[in-house]
Amino acid sequence: MSSAMTIERIKTHLVDMKFSSALEILDETIERLERNELSALEALGLLFDQEQGTRETRRIRSQLRTSRLLQGKTIDSFDFSFQPTLDRQRVMALAELGFIERHQSVHLLGPPGVGKTHLATALGIAAVKARKAVYFTTLADLIAALAKAEREGTLNQRLRYINRASLLIIDEVGYLPIEKNGANLFFQLVNARYEKGATIFTSNRGFKEWGEIFGDNVIAAALLDRLLHRATVLEIAGNSYRLREHADLVPETLKRGGNTPETPKRKPGRPRKNPLSDTHQQ
Ligand code: ADP
Ligand code: MG
Repeated sequence: MSSAMTIERIKTHLVDMKFSSALEILDETIERLERNELSALEALGLLFDQEQGTRETRRIRSQLRTSRLLQGKTIDSFDFSFQPTLDRQRVMALAELGFIERHQSVHLLGPPGVGKTHLATALGIAAVKARKAVYFTTLADLIAALAKAEREGTLNQRLRYINRASLLIIDEVGYLPIEKNGANLFFQLVNARYEKGATIFTSNRGFKEWGEIFGDNVIAAALLDRLLHRATVLEIAGNSYRLREHADLVPETLKRGGNTPETPKRKPGRPRKNPLSDTHQQ
């Protein structure tokens, strides 16, 4: 068979197998081969590298879409020098993703704008690149989705779907109070997921406030019992990155801690009932 026919046959196979990237560089690779710039082995290697590279990029893009992660919020684009209270080494250790294999929880705590969502997303993007199934949601959206599924009689399927993610990221715990049924649904998810999948939480509230957030100290204690077991807790105590150019315009009382516009002020003098422990750290 002539080499022209062989080349045509290869092209047909590449089209049939949808190896479009390898096909794109086939002619050029053959020319280089004929000019002895490449060995046959190198030429084969180039074709497969090209095809694999394109597929990997496409896979990551599609996984990022289904995971609902924000784009561009990576570890590399996080300026650690802006957050000196944050231990870079601990973040880099998390980015090795052992916590996903071990089905552990990670809590990123701190006031608004310190990069909690950015870091949670960055770990999610690293996990997608490592071929993990990732799902990003806010707590409010998650509970709304569970409540809808419950109304439609599909709660178990929904729980199974969410728990298929090896990494679930639950953003904004504590920004909005959760009503009783929502807290129960969330507990069902956490219980089903316990020691079966990893979860990252971001929150601007301390664990002591979970009773208030979930409207029930018993549920909050049961949640924390599972979610703090073997968990990593990272607290970021710095300033808002969003406000870095206008920090002087924000009153001191609003800059740090819980009493920000995103955390309604506690009623004065109201005692905390059964404060829950927030001491567990690893
Ligand atoms: P939080 O979730 O803690 O409220 P975000 O993660 O949403 O804060 O951060 C607010 C904005 O500032 C985002 O656009 C984020 O990418 C950016 N940002 C925050 N911290 C940093 C940082 N240290 N380096 C680079 N960008 C940052
Ligand atoms: Mg956030």
